[in-house]
Amino acid sequence: MKKETAATRRKRLLYKPVSVFDALGEHDEESIETISEAYRDLLDSGKTVRECVENARAMAEQWGFKPFERGVKLNPGDKVYTADNCKNIVLAVIGSAPLSDGARIMAAHVDTPGLDLKPNPLYEDSGLAMLKTHYYGGIKKYQWLAMPLELRGVVFLKNGGHVDIHVGADPYDPVLTITDLLPHLSAEQNKKTISEGFSAENLNVLIGLRPYADVAAGDEDRVKLAVMSWLNEKYGIVEEDLRTAELSLVPASNARDVGFDRAMLGAYGQDDRVCAFAGLHAILRAENPVHTAVCVLADKEEIGSEGISGIQSGHFDAFMEELCDMQQVKLRHCYAKSFCFSGDVCNAYDPNFADAHDKRNNARLGYGVSVVKYTGSRGKSGASDASAETFSRTRGLLEGAGVVWQTGELGRVDLGGGGTMACFIARRNIEVIDVGISLLSMHAPFEVVAKADLFMLCKAFSALFAD
Ligand code: MN
Ligand code: MN
Repeated sequence: MKKETAATRRKRLLYKPVSVFDALGEHDEESIETISEAYRDLLDSGKTVRECVENARAMAEQWGFKPFERGVKLNPGDKVYTADNCKNIVLAVIGSAPLSDGARIMAAHVDTPGLDLKPNPLYEDSGLAMLKTHYYGGIKKYQWLAMPLELRGVVFLKNGGHVDIHVGADPYDPVLTITDLLPHLSAEQNKKTISEGFSAENLNVLIGLRPYADVAAGDEDRVKLAVMSWLNEKYGIVEEDLRTAELSLVPASNARDVGFDRAMLGAYGQDDRVCAFAGLHAILRAENPVHTAVCVLADKEEIGSEGISGIQSGHFDAFMEELCDMQQVKLRHCYAKSFCFSGDVCNAYDPNFADAHDKRNNARLGYGVSVVKYTGSRGKSGASDASAETFSRTRGLLEGAGVVWQTGELGRVDLGGGGTMACFIARRNIEVIDVGISLLSMHAPFEVVAKADLFMLCKAFSALFAD
């Protein structure tokens, strides 16, 4: 018998991560560009949770999904969705197998860390009109200073009606900004830690300078009055309506190709809209699945998945129960047989911050889908920690579909940590594992992903729905 060479043995026995670029098929580059373009458009038009949910709803309608209605019988292949509270959406394609055989679920979140307005945001100080903010989720505050910002959201009026606010996206629109201290006067700030140097109560947005024309010099709040007059003319709102509003500041820049080779994509909110997009991409194309395919895009993950639109709420269960009731299946029996990809991002290894990672266990940009067995902090605390069985099942599914994948872990042990929605899905007795992609500059106003990874992620979620 011929002796195996060391090279062959190395290939057979030792694991080496595979770059997606070494595994692409003939037409894959075209698919990568088509997918990236659609993703870029969706990122630019959906910078708030409401916009993301509305975009998903509109796309679902285009692809033949109907709003779920109790009492309307559903047959295999039928496509339905529910988006009752404007801030999350669940889409389903009914399978040929009964729900007692379980569903295939993909869950992602469409909220993203950033800045919201306080209920009483508007004030004038030293001749400048300003807005007070309250940050949402884990941000590094300094990243939000001295950059152009848009204001997006909804304001409810006294009569219960509402108006959408959208300032800064059009190139002819004005933008807003939070000022930073000049380096010439930063001697004291430089001595502070980063968290001490940038305080949340100083994240106030500059929105106006010109005083209201008919107010005498020296009178108070004449710039504020001018700003409020502008808002009133444009949107019909008065100051007290701002209390019943949900308004967010978002980066005014749009998604862009990154790198001379355009292999990456940079944009705000890719945690976790990259998974939301891929999940949507997969479910819109899910035709006649065996198991009922379900895609849930939830809110509030960045602040603990609480609230009626978070994955901890009964909204998801209520919808699933409706589907089960139709087939006289108990929800708990459906859940016990279901399988879920919790679609969320993990950090990509960043050579600029090498010591924050474990090079051997952190995911790398361009190396495909990231499967994360556990997240959490201080010894996996708070993690769902998927079993080896679940991981093995996932491996089989991904490799069967030709998906390039790697493992991920959230940085160096004991440096910090974080969580995903997986633990809240597991709580329902649904088998679940985190499947997403890695990104650079997570939670920054400009996060970077590899387009090739996104392509693989779409394939991964399609493989789940084809299972
Ligand atoms: Mn996330
Ligand atoms: Mn996050």
